[in-house]
Amino acid sequence: MLFRQLFDPETSTYTYLIADPATKFAVLVDPVLEQVERDRRLLNELGLTLKFCLETHIHADHITGTAKLRELTGCQGIVPENAQVACADRLIKDKEVLEVGSVRIEAIATPGHTDSHMAYLVNSTHLLTGDALLIRGCGRTDFQSGNAEAMYDSITQRLFALPDETLVYPGHDYRGHTVSTIGEEKLWNPRLAGRDRNEFVQLMANLNLPDPKKIMEAVPANQRCGSVAA
Ligand code: FE
Repeated sequence: MLFRQLFDPETSTYTYLIADPATKFAVLVDPVLEQVERDRRLLNELGLTLKFCLETHIHADHITGTAKLRELTGCQGIVPENAQVACADRLIKDKEVLEVGSVRIEAIATPGHTDSHMAYLVNSTHLLTGDALLIRGCGRTDFQSGNAEAMYDSITQRLFALPDETLVYPGHDYRGHTVSTIGEEKLWNPRLAGRDRNEFVQLMANLNLPDPKKIMEAVPANQRCGSVAA
């Protein structure tokens, strides 16, 4: 498979381009509006046909590139089941498999950052963790439909149940990391290693993070699949 990690420096967001080299069918996971031209150029240069834009969740920190990409390429927008959006072409539910040519992408319900968040396991080896598990961290649980108990259960019961060698590709990174593994995060993730559920919930309740700069515009726009005009 073709697998590319792309970065938006303004919001520290990772977008993933995944494609099947045989059919040239491609999917973009968590595209960012400001990076649509970059992504389109790359698709063209690699001779790929964008079939799907797939979201891990309704983002609060950036506007999705999905509406723009749909307009430009005719791709389908796919969002997790139960996300509060009216505009998706398709919803994806827990354990459902999306096929992009010969590439298999399995949805894993991982509520906690939002109540409808999904992680995606690509070809059983590459895990896109969205804003559930981050490298040496995890997504915040203090706004939208966040819930620290659910986050702990999602990470420990669903993601840490995968083989230790599974590659972890997060939705954001703020410290320069690009990839980790499940085994490495079990050992070294400071939010989780050696903490029980109550300790994790306490820790998450006391982070006192500022709201993301774009939350007021990003959440409503993303509920329209990234359409900026209402
Ligand atoms: Fe998020």
